[in-house]
Amino acid sequence: MKALIADKIHEDGVKMLREFAEIDVSTGLKPAELIAKIGGYDILVVRSATKVTKEVIDAGKQLKIIARAGVGLDNIDVEAAKARGIKVVNAPEAPTVAVAELVLGSMLSWVRHLPQADAGMKAGRWEKAQLMGSELRGKALGIVGTGRIGRAVGYKAKAFLMNLLAYDPIQSAEFTERTGAKYADLDTLLRESDFVTLHVPLTPQTRHMIGKRELGLMKASAVLINTSRGGVIDEVALAEALRQGKIAGACLDVYEKEPPVGSPLLKLPNVVLTPHLGASTVEAQRDASIIVAQKIKEALGQ
Ligand code: NAD
Repeated sequence: MKALIADKIHEDGVKMLREFAEIDVSTGLKPAELIAKIGGYDILVVRSATKVTKEVIDAGKQLKIIARAGVGLDNIDVEAAKARGIKVVNAPEAPTVAVAELVLGSMLSWVRHLPQADAGMKAGRWEKAQLMGSELRGKALGIVGTGRIGRAVGYKAKAFLMNLLAYDPIQSAEFTERTGAKYADLDTLLRESDFVTLHVPLTPQTRHMIGKRELGLMKASAVLINTSRGGVIDEVALAEALRQGKIAGACLDVYEKEPPVGSPLLKLPNVVLTPHLGASTVEAQRDASIIVAQKIKEALGQ
């Protein structure tokens, strides 16, 4: 078996692949270079930089498996792979802890004003009186989407003594038993939560599921957190709601357009912004490389 690793992945996954495949690591290939090279390989491993187009797939005459060491398959023409009988694997399990910890970090940043405190100190200010915070303890956290990440957020928030509300068409009994979370309809969750955190995939049903109407239901003191996909929120409506004080703030890791060049959100004081860092931990990247190596091994019956 010959494998081409076309984007940098964690060494631990590469080690596992070496047990059953001959490995070439060749990153930063231009599309034409990848097309010229791919013909001799059975396995192609990428992260997000390499675009696995129909042309690449057609040129991969020996290809048996395409692996994405991460979550989204936006950079892979999955239909073209399917048509050729090529298996596509990814590692959606890998970033769960990383994203959940970022959500808790964002909420703590918000309630303890960490970005403002840090900026003030570095500017020579001692703003002890101005930066009175609040606690997560006893606050209501609304979790929209209780899949892998939503549940992981809930388990951590429970340890911070938050009260949990949840919305998902598929309800998890294990989750409610472990956390005391109460499932509710989306409008109730929005009305009653102090923090609302989004963990749904971006689908035609979830695109702009948080828009003007939904923001209007939220408490004026509430904070919206999005680490899922930018398109789940109508950003124009969000910027307006933040400007008008319809909600207190937002912590955003994902944007409708990335990077969000020119977005009004960049200018608002009541937002905490991160550049799609959800999965950016050493551990998540390591897990992603190991998980795809295992899946490749299983798929090839090695
Ligand atoms: P998951 O598939 O485990 O869970 C998604 C949940 O959303 C499921 O329980 C599903 O029933 C629910 N859902 C689907 N449609 C819904 C709807 N219309 N209303 C309410 N709930 C709905 O996914 P996950 O691993 O928990 O990931 C959640 C999101 O996080 C995805 O959008 C993923 O792309 C994103 N993500 C972001 C980062 C990042 O870097 N910020 C990293 C990993 C994942």
